[in-house]
Order: sequence, then structure tokens, then C-alpha cells
Amino acid sequence: MSQPPLRTTMTAMSDPIESLTNTARQLLEIDQLLGGQFIPSAVNSLPEVKPPGQPVRSPANVTPSDKGAALDDMNNNEVKICTRCRLSKTRNNTVFGEGDPDAALVFVGEGPGQNEDQTGRPFCGRAGDLLTKMIEAMGLTRSDVFICNVVKCRPPQNRNPMSDEVEACWPYLMRQLQIISPKAIVTMGNPATQKLLQTRTGITRLRGTWQSLPAFADSLGGIPVMPTFHPAYLLRYYTPKVRREVWSDLQQVMEVLGLELPGGK
Ligand code: URA
Ligand code: SF4
Repeated sequence: MSQPPLRTTMTAMSDPIESLTNTARQLLEIDQLLGGQFIPSAVNSLPEVKPPGQPVRSPANVTPSDKGAALDDMNNNEVKICTRCRLSKTRNNTVFGEGDPDAALVFVGEGPGQNEDQTGRPFCGRAGDLLTKMIEAMGLTRSDVFICNVVKCRPPQNRNPMSDEVEACWPYLMRQLQIISPKAIVTMGNPATQKLLQTRTGITRLRGTWQSLPAFADSLGGIPVMPTFHPAYLLRYYTPKVRREVWSDLQQVMEVLGLELPGGK
């Protein structure tokens, strides 16, 4: 094992280690594209992130109006003026999220699209209309739940948020969840699911199975998480099978929240 140290002057093609690394990277990218189905799940090595800012009071002492005030404060004084990542340069509006600050159920999507960027409101385009219907099918309204995203600013051309952007925005989501302190969380699609559960396993495998939020910060560890398909995926693959799967995921959430099936279905 007396290999010479790697020299930075080596070209990628002539360096066997570099070309192996490239092959591995390509495999990971393909795996990511296919929803993480081909590489066994593993806890990723992202460092634990401690939310900056003031510590959140224990939920037991916090009233719904305190929660509303804490969320408004974070939105107005931090998120609206945030320049922590490059998405601040191309956004029109930040999209903090909306709903009941004391909601038992939080939906987490990926990031704002064009409509959301223009209005500053989450899930208000076509995927949003479908999410509204999903929520109503549960016998709830949008104002009964809280709806937000892993990144608060629109990625250009609706590309997936990059990992450094997700990382930069992560403390806001953690604090939103700490303040709201919901009984359950629904993650929609791969970016939200994989980030919140710190996993590379894809949504196709995870959906419909109860997971548990890691203890990222005080009062977060153990919150039940139900991963399901993103409504934009559901729009694209509006098949009886996919619709049945999403509905079955939501019914499991209703059960945990003690909600009656609407219309006695
Ligand atoms: N898709 C998302 O992930 N979030 C939105 O707010 C809208 C569409
Ligand atoms: Fe800040 Fe998040 Fe917007 Fe990036 S995406 S600028 S971290 S609010």
C-alpha cells in the first residue's frame, strides 16, 4: 500500500480514483432520479443542524396565539429578508407557509413553484388545488392544517432545490415545526421525505409507512411522519393505483389524528 499521494495536476481521466469517484457519483445520480430504489437505504452523513436563533419555549407553555406570533416574527423579520442562499437572488416572493399555527397536521412539500413565487403563498397552483382536495377529502380545510416547504424560495425553472439550498433553509423549517409542534407530519415527495427523515430511501418505498422524525431539536424527536407522493406526481400519474395509494396514506393519518372518514366512507 505504498501509493503516492494524489496529485492535483492529474487529469480526471488518467486518475483511476477520480474516475471511480465519477462512476460512483453517476450511479448515485441515477439512483436519485429513480427515487433511491437501487441503492439500499442508509442514514446519510449530513451533520446535525442546530436551529439558530432564540430557543423555542416548551410547547406546553405556549398558546396558539404565541405560536402565531412566533411564526409571524420569523417570517417578517427573518425569512422575508433572507439571503442565506442563492435562491434569494431569483425569487419574487418568499413563501413561508400558511395555515393554523397550532395545527395538529403539517404538510411539507419541496419548494415554491411559479404561482407560489408570484403570490407568496404555498401550493396555490395546480398541484396546490389537488393538495386542497386531498385535505378536504380528509374532512379538513387548508386553514385547519399548516402547509409549507423545505425551501422558502423558488428554485429557477422549478428545478429541485440543491443540497446547500436545503441546508441553508433547514433551520426555518425546524423552527416552524418546533413552534407548531404538530401531532403528525405528511412529507410529500422525495426532497421533503429524504431531508426530514435523513434517508436516501425513495418515496416509492417509504410511502404509506409510518416513520418518526429524528430528534433534530427539542420537542421534534418522535413526531410521526407519513411520507406520500407529491401532488405534482399524482397529477402526472393520475392512475387509480396512485390515487388509491395516496388516499390510503392519508387515511392512516386520519386514524392517528382521530378523524372520522367524511361521508361515512
Ligand atoms: N410544489 C411544492 O412542493 N410546493 C409548493 O408550494 C407548490 C408546489
Ligand atoms: Fe433564505 Fe431559504 Fe430563501 Fe434560501 S431558500 S434565501 S435560505 S429563505
